[in-house]
Amino acid sequence: MLVVMKAQAGPADIARVCERIETLGFQSHIIPGEQRTAVCITGNSGPVDPAEFEDLPGVAEAIRVSKAYKLVSRETQPENTIVLVNGVRVGGEQIVLCGGPCAIESREQILESARAVRAGGGQLLRGGAYKPRTSPYSFQGLGEGGLRYLAEAREETGLGIVTEAIDTETFDLVEQYADCVQIGARNMQNFSLLRRAGRSRKPILLKRGMSSTLEEFLMAAEYLLAEGNYQVILCERGVRTFADHTRNTLDLSVVPAVQGLSHLPIIVDPSHGTGKRDKVAPMSLAAIAAGASGLIVEVHPTPDRALSDGYQSLSPEQFAEMADECRAVAELLASRRKPRVGAH
Ligand code: PEP
Ligand code: MN
Repeated sequence: MLVVMKAQAGPADIARVCERIETLGFQSHIIPGEQRTAVCITGNSGPVDPAEFEDLPGVAEAIRVSKAYKLVSRETQPENTIVLVNGVRVGGEQIVLCGGPCAIESREQILESARAVRAGGGQLLRGGAYKPRTSPYSFQGLGEGGLRYLAEAREETGLGIVTEAIDTETFDLVEQYADCVQIGARNMQNFSLLRRAGRSRKPILLKRGMSSTLEEFLMAAEYLLAEGNYQVILCERGVRTFADHTRNTLDLSVVPAVQGLSHLPIIVDPSHGTGKRDKVAPMSLAAIAAGASGLIVEVHPTPDRALSDGYQSLSPEQFAEMADECRAVAELLASRRKPRVGAH
């Protein structure tokens, strides 16, 4: 249920509604909005009687939320959420480009990658210190040493850092260094990890599971918001299909589908989404044209020598070219959306 406050309702009115919700044994979530504030109720197993709230001062109406993902739903919050990552607005007017290697391999490698991302006009740096690898014998990441190199790269370039936490044991450490903590596709339904991420004060990048439906994706995000973390970015990274010309099938139709159902921003990962370097730029352009808020792309100073995912990583030059084209598409679309000067 959503208790919608009147535009002129004050903090005392909102506090009274929250108190009533908690007296009933449920949780309250205040959702500020441009036009009005709403208070969402979670934790109720059956329907709540709207009459409990309709008599309280400052309340406009109490309405049922039809979706199972209540806090993530646009019914609860009509305006888009903007997620702030180290001062970069994700979900705003400008597209956000995050680039960097699959894994941090050395100090020089991540510093060079960061310089390449910045030179190409990217705003965020990615790189895994803890890697979820299919084989236990593959490179697993540098752990805390890698996080320290990432922090050094942020210091030098000013880029905000996005890095993955693969379990609850190392979450605290990752959270200390990261500007945004990534939850990977393999962990999209790791509910204890989601709950821990939901208690974090850092923004979360939640990647879609490789066989997850839209509803499962949004319900995973609901875990984060239900624990109090509203700074969540969704990421489409391809799903498993019968197609074998790519590593995964990039499901770009999920972008407008998410935007219809949720206020959370969605970005696209064309690297894991295709698994092939020559497919990354075309699918990046398609993602921006489809309305994605940005991209997360693998970039490596020497992709052919990468310790993981080199075949899908762009060289610095390829990244710069792709970034340029993406900005051109975004600007063209933005200019056509705005009313032209002098038009009637
Ligand atoms: C990654 O971003 O390096 C990664 C492992 O991604 P995914 O979880 O989407 O496979
Ligand atoms: Mn990778």
